[in-house]
Amino acid sequence: MSAGPAVERVEVSVYTIPTDAPEGDGTIAWDSSTLVLVEATARGTTGLGWTYGPPAVAALIEGRLAGIATGGDATSPSRANDRMVEAIRNDGRPGVGMEAVSAVDIALWDLKARLLDLPLTRLLGAVRDDVPVYGSGGFTTYDEARTREQLGHWVHEQRIPRVKIKIGESWGTRVERDLARIRLAREVIGDDTELYVDANGAYSAKQAIRVAERAAPDRPVWFEEPVSSDDLDGLRFVREHVAPDVAAGEYGHDPQYFRRMLAAGSVDCLQADASRCGGVTGWLRAAAVAGSFGLEISGHCVPNVHVPIAATVPNLRHLEWFHDHVRIESMLFDGTADPTGGAARPPDGPGLGLSLRRPDAERYRVR
Ligand SMILES: [Mg+2]
Repeated sequence: MSAGPAVERVEVSVYTIPTDAPEGDGTIAWDSSTLVLVEATARGTTGLGWTYGPPAVAALIEGRLAGIATGGDATSPSRANDRMVEAIRNDGRPGVGMEAVSAVDIALWDLKARLLDLPLTRLLGAVRDDVPVYGSGGFTTYDEARTREQLGHWVHEQRIPRVKIKIGESWGTRVERDLARIRLAREVIGDDTELYVDANGAYSAKQAIRVAERAAPDRPVWFEEPVSSDDLDGLRFVREHVAPDVAAGEYGHDPQYFRRMLAAGSVDCLQADASRCGGVTGWLRAAAVAGSFGLEISGHCVPNVHVPIAATVPNLRHLEWFHDHVRIESMLFDGTADPTGGAARPPDGPGLGLSLRRPDAERYRVR
């Protein structure tokens, strides 16, 4: 079989965008997010990929990965993925390492689809017309007015029937405020909207069970990272003692990570983030791992990368419509997805269906 056109260039740029208000969850707080963008070019066509991570991701791409992807067959992103994963063995794969691989992988898949003039969803093969989403934000740093405004926007204006708030404030030391904010959320969203909570690993296992018991009248149905996602036994213990589904997996970086989490019985629904777990290639493998355990997968953050690929996965539950990333992606790209009604349609344009608004992005460029 003859090879496709060679990847001619892989370029990296970095953008730091301030949040529109201070943001925080149970275990970390931030006032800006950094997007590392990869542009991969072949035959005059350019594919876009990105991750959210530190500028060190860009250094790793330039120093280690760009040279591997350049010159490779632009119709074989998975081959480049394997070679990149091999190349960062000694650098460390979780976190920065696989964020770098993911950004390049996504750009290579976007490039391949554009070279074939196909939407990425059609290149991979759709199994659904649109993908369910849930509004995600509800930061612990928000006051009551801002929380009401955000939840009300999703539920009453965009008609999204699922929302998630952060709990576990200050490493689980403000449980009374957590419970008051869960009550507030239920009051704002009404009876018919699904309520999700995410503790970002802030609680101990017994504490998480007590919180779930006390929150039961407000009917949360999704309890994300009640304890650290590194504590597989703790997750399973919580899962066995609470009514809501327990979810985790957002830091997963390879199929073995997801297999370990599921084999331990730690979650009811697997989360995976294409910008951390190896891009399009890695996310599809994570979905297959979840399917092998009879479980569904939910896409974590990076909404406009997940929409086109989630539409190709049979065991999809939903995607996270994360406030910070929704806002950044709509500022930097044309063609972003619309979640009105609670589901987003994959783009009709080639690849990810996005184009970079270069002059707008330039304002935030740091590298
Ligand atoms: Mg989370």
